[in-house]
Amino acid sequence: MKKIVNVIGAGLAGCEAAYQLAKRNIIVNLFEKKTIKKNEIQKLDFFAELVCSNTLRSTDLKNAVGTLKEEMQLLDSLIIRAAKYASIPAGQSLAVDREIFSKFITEEMQNNKNINVFNKEVEKIDCNVPIIIATGPLTSKKLQEEIINLIGKDYFYFYDAVAPIVKKESINMDIAFKKNRYEKGETQDYINCPMNYEQYKNFYNELINASITTTHLEDEKDLKVFEGCMPIEVMAKRGFETLTFGPLKPAGLRNIDGSNNYAVVQLRQDNAADDLYNLVGFQTNLTWSEQKRVFRLIPGLEKAEFIRYGVMHLNNFINSPELLNEYNQLKTNKNIFFAGQITGVEGYVESTCSGIIAAINMARMLSDKNMVKFPLETVMGSLQNYIISTSSKDFQPMKANWSVVKPIVLEKKIKKEEKKSLYSQISLNAIKKFIEINDL
Ligand SMILES: Cc1cc2nc3c(=O)[nH]c(=O)nc-3n(C[C@H](O)[C@H](O)[C@H](O)COP(=O)(O)OP(=O)(O)OC[C@H]3O[C@@H](n4cnc5c(N)ncnc54)[C@H](O)[C@@H]3O)c2cc1C
Repeated sequence: MKKIVNVIGAGLAGCEAAYQLAKRNIIVNLFEKKTIKKNEIQKLDFFAELVCSNTLRSTDLKNAVGTLKEEMQLLDSLIIRAAKYASIPAGQSLAVDREIFSKFITEEMQNNKNINVFNKEVEKIDCNVPIIIATGPLTSKKLQEEIINLIGKDYFYFYDAVAPIVKKESINMDIAFKKNRYEKGETQDYINCPMNYEQYKNFYNELINASITTTHLEDEKDLKVFEGCMPIEVMAKRGFETLTFGPLKPAGLRNIDGSNNYAVVQLRQDNAADDLYNLVGFQTNLTWSEQKRVFRLIPGLEKAEFIRYGVMHLNNFINSPELLNEYNQLKTNKNIFFAGQITGVEGYVESTCSGIIAAINMARMLSDKNMVKFPLETVMGSLQNYIISTSSKDFQPMKANWSVVKPIVLEKKIKKEEKKSLYSQISLNAIKKFIEINDL
């Protein structure tokens, strides 16, 4: 008898998961509420809607997201196929006509003999049937409550409040210095960027006048109320000195020569490999281009390379490091898998990738095969590894980038661009081998 899986949410991750299950001869009941009840940003009746930008980002293999798409294509990703079919000229980006893109995917869902589409809002989770929850960053309210009942309220988040993350190697350590406040602790963990009065004044003026992103959603206006976690530019507008008594306070952070600073920006280690640092207290609504311009005014960060920009937006996600295993399966209930942005990956491509991982493993579990852990040399495997093994305490969503991929040990230094090409080659070789060995 054929096995049945319920997939909740026909977004990017849900449609990809449904397709991957169906092609493995599993019957999918796909539930989607948008045709009867759209959220504030959905406009189309089609599935897998790109709600904001119409690009799946770079196609350059030297870029981690470019390699990620290639890996997914090797796994016959429906979403990547749809994107290529609907692509429009955009240089080295995979931009699409969003209607053609979503229509292509919707037709596949409606016409696939192994997929049954239900236009319905799911409010209850039936744990007795294998299920993939892929309801995205704006999961409906009743289902949010149901998920909270399942996993506990401490493990379900309503929004992102992320400070920008920069590459450690791009910080100018001739200006910045390592020290903990009052030199507490055995190791000096923080990187500090000192500012004199003139530098602070310049930074401050640019910060309070910088452009901010426009809110997509009504509820986002109240975000700061949730956690008292205020955007840096909002705090700055309270007064010239406010930041110097808050996240930029210089107390206990004298320079190496003992001199005082007017303000100090602290950066905290963000990953186990110790190559990424976040700007402490810099959650922000500045546009990405303004973040790059204004935060590069901070002494030591003039050439900072941003791995991820700060955001404050609505985003439902679960604490995957606590809850999920490497297959996107809930540790406490083998019938329940999560996929997409709700697992703490960030972005269209990353959400889709998470759907592939969940579906392949769900299909294998139902066919009594061993589930498979994607190799850490691949972008797919390393991103998955990041979301399940990073610190659960400050867990925040992550995009694809080379810093999460297993580092290559090189005997001699090579140019950055060559290194990225090498990462890409290694990833693609690893995924090809993985597909062959596991007959995917
Ligand atoms: C405002 C906003 C803008 C974004 N802009 C970008 C961007 O420009 N680029 C980018 O790469 N990423 C962006 N993202 C992040 C993210 O990549 C996308 O949201 C992406 O669509 C996530 O894919 P997903 O499959 O996890 O969820 P979604 O694509 O959102 O799919 C989830 C689906 O589940 C359905 N659903 C929800 N609850 C229920 C229920 N109870 N029953 C049945 N169906 C339900 C929804 O209607 C939806 O169709 C944005 C996110 C937000 C919130």
